[in-house]
Amino acid sequence: MVWAAIKPSHPKSRWVPVRLIWCKLAPMSDSYPLHLIAKRPNYYGFSGLDRSAHIREEEGWLERLILEPETRLVPVWRSRSLITDDAMGEPCAALLPAVDHQVLVEHAEFVVFLGEKGGISHIGLDLSPLDEHHVHDLFADHGMFTDLRQIGPVLERFEGSILAYVRGLMYWHQRHRFCGVCGTETISTKGGHQRNCANPDCRAPTFPRTDPAVIMLVHDGDRALLGRQKVWKPGMYSTLAGFVEPGETLEEAVAREVWEETNVHVEDVRYHSSQPWPFPASVMLGFHAKARTTDINRNDEEVEDAQWFTLDELKNFERLGNSLPRPDSIARRLIEDWMAEFE
Ligand SMILES: [Zn+2]
Repeated sequence: MVWAAIKPSHPKSRWVPVRLIWCKLAPMSDSYPLHLIAKRPNYYGFSGLDRSAHIREEEGWLERLILEPETRLVPVWRSRSLITDDAMGEPCAALLPAVDHQVLVEHAEFVVFLGEKGGISHIGLDLSPLDEHHVHDLFADHGMFTDLRQIGPVLERFEGSILAYVRGLMYWHQRHRFCGVCGTETISTKGGHQRNCANPDCRAPTFPRTDPAVIMLVHDGDRALLGRQKVWKPGMYSTLAGFVEPGETLEEAVAREVWEETNVHVEDVRYHSSQPWPFPASVMLGFHAKARTTDINRNDEEVEDAQWFTLDELKNFERLGNSLPRPDSIARRLIEDWMAEFE
């Protein structure tokens, strides 16, 4: 394992150290867009897995993969990920050899093909029906089930992304057990990337759901507009955000959410980057936007406070008794990249 610097997307942004395990990085599928990672990936994106959608149609392929000696299992229990320590004592994802853990496959409620990397297939298992004692007995020597939100920022980036991916898929399976058309039970198909109604007169398909949300750093040239929700820890401020609604472009959603939460009008809405956020089921679409008006008038009950902060205030945020959002969030990235433009 090494620490490496990933070149930032913005020319004035600083280089950022990330944990990479080169032996895992090297044998990547030829089709994987590894070059995009050079643009400083947000956390939980870029798993390095080739999702190999073409093989999901083949008969009996998943059963065959589970028996292959190289295949790795990625267990999930009640939305938690199995974490262990690597040779350096650093926390890492426990990716279990399938040949040694066939009993886990038998216990799994959902079995999902995640993808392949360097010839190694990764298969997610949802073991949520097991009670705590059973889980303890099965995994005592293999790690602890941990909430990715607690451990994510210190995990090697590819591993964190795989855990986010499997967590999001299992959440979807858990909540789509019944057909939205006729109410009959659904069954998992295509390696866990689709569910189909079991009613032969219906057969309606449903696909893994990801809810798009816009998240935006609004600025007026010199100051950034941040808000806070009542449920957050005292003093924490973050970028404004909200779900995209049907019939709306992303730019409209940015303008609407900012208006609803602060009464500020925006223009020059520019896409920044995106981030999978399976807590529980979102993809965050990040923007920078310029304010056309600056008077704040809160309309939204959810937002407890919204303020304009200068660059100096943000640089001294903690000394002022405030805090920025968590380091693995795109919100933090949007704020830091805006601040970096002044360097
Ligand atoms: Zn149905």
